[in-house]
Amino acid sequence: MREFLKSVISKKTRINLRRIHYFGFRHKCLLCGSRVRTMFDSGLSFPVLRDMDVVGGEQLSHDVCPVCFPTVEQDCFGKREVPIGQRPSTPRVLHVAPEYALMVYLSNVSDYTGADIDPEGYKAHGDVVYCDITDIGFPDNTFDLIVCRHVLEHVPRDDLAISEL
Ligand SMILES: [Zn+2]
Repeated sequence: MREFLKSVISKKTRINLRRIHYFGFRHKCLLCGSRVRTMFDSGLSFPVLRDMDVVGGEQLSHDVCPVCFPTVEQDCFGKREVPIGQRPSTPRVLHVAPEYALMVYLSNVSDYTGADIDPEGYKAHGDVVYCDITDIGFPDNTFDLIVCRHVLEHVPRDDLAISEL
């Protein structure tokens, strides 16, 4: 049933439904900006993670936005390690194979360009332009920051991609 609903309801609509369902004033997501009544807990409760004091292996309560479901890495952009929103000027950002939560956040704090080799797959998310990262088609120094996560392992000529980036 869940897969059927996902196939007939666009991602944008599902996100808006979650925004309505979880609406409240208790929390505000730093990535997508949604005001929600609750946040989900994150992390795993495996004893080995606690026993070995694994960095990032702890459980955190009220840590995950129920609207955009950011991964820990995406979340880091918004509230932990990369305070891009606090930079004095508006950085020009190229976001390759954009994930929704990061796309929303980066769109709000930068001169943002989302890009993918298959931009049609992002119609529900927003504007994404065609870009082959082995030949990105933008002049040198067009961007201050390129965000390219979980992409290179899918590119046969990753050496060309790295030289472009
Ligand atoms: Zn969010």
